[in-house]
Amino acid sequence: MPKLTIDTIAVEVPEGTNVLEAARSIGITIPHFCWHPALGKAGACRACAVKMLDGPIKGIQMSCMLPAQDGMVVSTTDQEAVDMRRAVIEWLMINHPHDCPVCDEGGECQLQDFTIAGGHGIRRYDGLKRTYNNQYLGEYIEHEMNRCIQCYRCVRFYQEYAGGTDFGAMGRSGMVYFGRQQDGDLESPFSGNLVDICPTGVFTDKTARFRARYWDYDMAPSVCPGCSLGCSTVPMARYRELLKVTARRNDAVNGWFICDRGRFSNAAVNAPDRPRQARVDGEAVSMDAALDSLQERLTNFLELNGAAALAIVGSPRMAQEAAIMAAKLRDLIGAETLCYSGDTPHFAATVEAVALLNRNNTASQKDVRQADVVAILECDLLIEAPMMALAVRQAYRNGAKVFVVHNKCLKETSRQLYDSAAVASLTDVPFAEARNPVVICGMNRQAINSIQAMALSGVKLAFILNGPNAFGTAMLAREQGAVTLPDALARGAIKGVIALEADLSSELPP
Ligand code: SF4
Ligand code: SF4
Repeated sequence: MPKLTIDTIAVEVPEGTNVLEAARSIGITIPHFCWHPALGKAGACRACAVKMLDGPIKGIQMSCMLPAQDGMVVSTTDQEAVDMRRAVIEWLMINHPHDCPVCDEGGECQLQDFTIAGGHGIRRYDGLKRTYNNQYLGEYIEHEMNRCIQCYRCVRFYQEYAGGTDFGAMGRSGMVYFGRQQDGDLESPFSGNLVDICPTGVFTDKTARFRARYWDYDMAPSVCPGCSLGCSTVPMARYRELLKVTARRNDAVNGWFICDRGRFSNAAVNAPDRPRQARVDGEAVSMDAALDSLQERLTNFLELNGAAALAIVGSPRMAQEAAIMAAKLRDLIGAETLCYSGDTPHFAATVEAVALLNRNNTASQKDVRQADVVAILECDLLIEAPMMALAVRQAYRNGAKVFVVHNKCLKETSRQLYDSAAVASLTDVPFAEARNPVVICGMNRQAINSIQAMALSGVKLAFILNGPNAFGTAMLAREQGAVTLPDALARGAIKGVIALEADLSSELPP
């Protein structure tokens, strides 16, 4: 563990940490654009200059490119380093438009912050700026190439981290262009991360364009409901309308990124025909009146039919708090039937899968990123849990071997992310040679049965469940004796249903 001194503060950091990260670890932010924790260094922007006063290396150095070493004495405030950083910002701003007032990135722009922090406020350059044509990149992302500062983060993310092939860097005679060969939708299911990762306003979220500034938003840490992975997000709303969703860093789960399904799914939340008003027999009423009517009808129903005729029905989409309330409601009313699922085969598989998991054998997305052997069975990750596919890609980039068991359900798009070997069964996967093996399994009962023996063998397991809270509701279902709706109806006694966050129109048999 190298020990060094930064701005007179002694710091000890893990081997491989660069000087920029070492400074961050003690709360010193060195300006940077191309370096990103998930992408590493590129040395492209030259903005992170520091002065090495003593130790194995001396003079002005780029702190992102320099691994921390014993005995280094680093100054971030030395005048020569400050002047170098100021000059770099001024060069970058020569071609960057002064359009912060009309740029959607304004207020959440790294270039804006570091320009102001570096003290560059007056433009000395009065020549023509370099300009580019913008591209149509689809309905989600706006492109404004004149703002580019050539940090290469976008292409490093899109091609290297996310395996995309339709976007890249193109250059001729002093001009570098970041885009597609021609206008068109970005093909990567992770393309929305360009918005977060670009340190300036080249890529902005078109769906929220010109609707709010950063400080206008109501926002809170949240969890994506797009699939069972539960990636960390920050939904951002204004005037009670959800305008955009951004990734929230969570190293154990999604890291720095989310998929486009999680990012661009706010249309349903804002749908004008979403029920927002209590109704009784189709008539709009106050919430109090609706609850009074519910109580009266429920009492009549129970007197007439008995509690055995009533089912409380939730879904794997409901929050855990709501799922617990459903069980409490069942007990309060005295109803006999509680359901969290309308799909008997999936529910049975989910309950079995959840029963196999414990604190030690459960693989997070981080575990998958760090795995050296990954076996995937009975699921197409890019369709069912996109960020898990991205996690497998990171393992693959680090040298992991990927095996797909029964690959009949693998779509072509998944193959772009990692090369995999097709095997007939899990016994063909060389787990014995692996230090961090992981099995990722879809909701297929046969497949789940086939990995039961592995639950105690040191191989970590990740299940792709069929609902954002399928895990929580399956645990509750075991505890509360819940059954599926089709099974409850098959008994023939159910005459009434109370639905909580359940879409009965799709789950009730005709
Ligand atoms: S488009 Fe943004 S992320 Fe890409 S090189 Fe330019 S400034 Fe960097
Ligand atoms: S992988 Fe699933 S939970 Fe994560 S962002 Fe995408 S849809 Fe949401």
